[in-house]
Amino acid sequence: MKNGGALPRICSAGPRADKTKAGRSVIIKTTYDFLIAGGGLFGSVFAQKAVEAGKKCLVLERRPHIGGNVYTEETEGIQVHKYGPHIFHTSNSGIWEYINRFAAFNNFINSPLANYKGRIFNLPFNMNTFNRMWGVTSPAEAREMIERSRSAEYTESPKNLEQMAINLVGREIYETLIKGYTEKQWGRRCEDLPPSIITRLPVRFTFDNNYFNDRYQGVPIGGYAAMIEKLLEGAEVRLNEDYLKDKPAYDKLAEHVVFTGSVDAYFDYRFGELEYRSVCFETETLDTDNYQGVAVMNYTDKETPFTRVIEHKHFDPVNRPRTVISREFSKEWEPGAEPFYPVENARSVALYRKYAALAEREEAVTFGGRLGTFRYYDMDKVVEQALLCAAKLLAP
Ligand code: UDP
Repeated sequence: MKNGGALPRICSAGPRADKTKAGRSVIIKTTYDFLIAGGGLFGSVFAQKAVEAGKKCLVLERRPHIGGNVYTEETEGIQVHKYGPHIFHTSNSGIWEYINRFAAFNNFINSPLANYKGRIFNLPFNMNTFNRMWGVTSPAEAREMIERSRSAEYTESPKNLEQMAINLVGREIYETLIKGYTEKQWGRRCEDLPPSIITRLPVRFTFDNNYFNDRYQGVPIGGYAAMIEKLLEGAEVRLNEDYLKDKPAYDKLAEHVVFTGSVDAYFDYRFGELEYRSVCFETETLDTDNYQGVAVMNYTDKETPFTRVIEHKHFDPVNRPRTVISREFSKEWEPGAEPFYPVENARSVALYRKYAALAEREEAVTFGGRLGTFRYYDMDKVVEQALLCAAKLLAP
């Protein structure tokens, strides 16, 4: 990575036809082909493809580090996921091959646990969960229990997360493992959340604790920061620089802008704020080599104030005498906080459509990533979108 934290260069002006005082248009040369606002996963993948195609890229990152929310940092020899756990998983072999060019992935399989008032359940919902909940040992018995639990309340076309969850696993599992966690995470009642959130989680009738159904899965050995650094090789990166703080000046530097920040912020919240959830972390180093025996422990009751506890060393087991844990607290986003999760409810989605229509009309700007397109994407989808965006913008 070059030039981290350096001051903006004084640049010659750009081919956007600028007006002279006399009102004549002058064609002036820009310094970069692409200005990429945001050095997260989307921006870094886009930069990699653009540099590979011989383009000159400037990446502006407002935080003091690259990687956006996938950023990891070493503490006590352990890669700490500073913005929550990130496990790369995909079924797309092309995406998997692509990302493996920039990091060696370990064989981590996400098998989080749910802690409900001291009782431990396996996730996602599988035969181990059903056995712990009801003592059933066969898929047929488990199906029968779920059927019994949901039959009174089955909803033909579920309109919200509660109806969908009850359809999938019945009320008892919904109340033990879903309702408290979801309402803490989203700060909204399950009746007011879209069904799509819960269908991210598999329900299976096998004894398989793998949280994801995807063929490929892992965490980069050496952390995400090193992976992002590799993606950004050949691009100029400036940390602590916020594109939106001086947009007119930055726009003069490049032919095209790839914007990965929040789309409503880009348009100065003209139609109002989109809804996001933010997360804050309480991270501690503990004098024990193993605190909870698993990377992710979800607290699914409503009384525990945090949603989950992450023990970072279990993502890539290292033999260290101490351990680092993070308690994760979910809160409503407000200006100044980091937006994490787009809240895709009816109001926000309608509002986003208005911003998307404006975004369409920005000829020299392309919007991307979770925030730029207001979508609850997994990492593989972000990579895929960035590759598609690059293919489009780099086409001859
Ligand atoms: N969820 C739940 N209980 C859990 C874990 C997840 O009810 O113990 C629900 C919750 O609504 C959450 C959704 O499943 O928002 C998706 O979870 P996922 O783990 O995909 O969320 P992420 O990893 O993106 O935070």
